[in-house]
Amino acid sequence: MTGRALRLADLTWPELPPSATVVVPVGSLEQHGPHLPLETDALVAEAVAVRAVAALDRDDVLVAPVVAYGASGEHQHFAGTVSTGTPVLHLLLVELVRSLRTWAARVVLVNGHGGNLDAVRGAVGQLVDEGHDVTWAPCAAVGADLHAGRTETSLLLHLRPDLVRLDRAVAGATASAAELLPLLRAGGVVAVSANGVLGDPAGASAEEGRALLEEMVGRVVAVISSSVEPAPSPVEPAPSSVEPAPSSVEPAPSSVEPVETPQGAR
Ligand SMILES: [Zn+2]
Repeated sequence: MTGRALRLADLTWPELPPSATVVVPVGSLEQHGPHLPLETDALVAEAVAVRAVAALDRDDVLVAPVVAYGASGEHQHFAGTVSTGTPVLHLLLVELVRSLRTWAARVVLVNGHGGNLDAVRGAVGQLVDEGHDVTWAPCAAVGADLHAGRTETSLLLHLRPDLVRLDRAVAGATASAAELLPLLRAGGVVAVSANGVLGDPAGASAEEGRALLEEMVGRVVAVISSSVEPAPSPVEPAPSSVEPAPSSVEPAPSSVEPVETPQGAR
C-alpha cells in the first residue's frame, strides 16, 4: 500500500473527480462459526477494497461504503444471519451501479462472500448488457478454505484481532468443497456442520492473514487497473466506454507500482 484510500462517503459533491472509478465492497452479515464475527465478509471485502484503492494511489479511484448485507440463505439456520437473498442483492447491485454511473465512469464490485456470486455475476452481466462500464473481483487467495476456517480466521486475526474468540475456534466440516457443496446447497450449512464452520481454524495466524490479504489486494488491484486504463477524457460521454468486463483475476506483480494519473483527471 502506498497512498491513502479516497473514501467516497467522506467527500462533498464538488470534490468528485470528473471521471471516477468507484470500488464497491460487497460483504454479508452471517454466522462465521462460534469464533468469528457476523460481519467477517464485510470486513474482509472492505479491507481489500480500501487497500487496493490505496495501493493504486490515484485521485480518480474511490472506495464506496461496504454493502453490508448479502445473500446468505445457506447460513439462515444460524442466529445472527441477516440475508437479502440473491434476487434482492442482484437488484440492489443493479440499482447502485445505475445510480453510480450517472456520474462515475466505471464501477468495480469487490465481493467478499461466495454466496453472493450468483447475484454479483448476474447483476454485472445485466449492467454490461445495459451499456455500463462495470466489473467485479473476488477476494480470492490460493488454497483458501471455505468458511470460518483457517483462511478467514487468519484474515480476522490480522484485521480485527479484538473480534476473534480464539478460545472458541474449533473445526467444522473439513471435507472438500466438491463433497460439501451439493449437501450444502440442498440443506444449508447446518446440514454439514453443526457449528457453522467449513474448515479448521487451527494454525491460523495474523501473519498468514496479512499475506492472504496482500494476495487478495494484488488481485483486486489488477482488476481495477485493467478496467481503469486508459481513462477516458472527462468531457467524453461515458456510454462509449463500455468494454467487456475482464473475465478473470490475473496475478498483479506490477500492480503495486504507482499508476500514472490519466490526462485530465485529478
Ligand atoms: Zn465469510
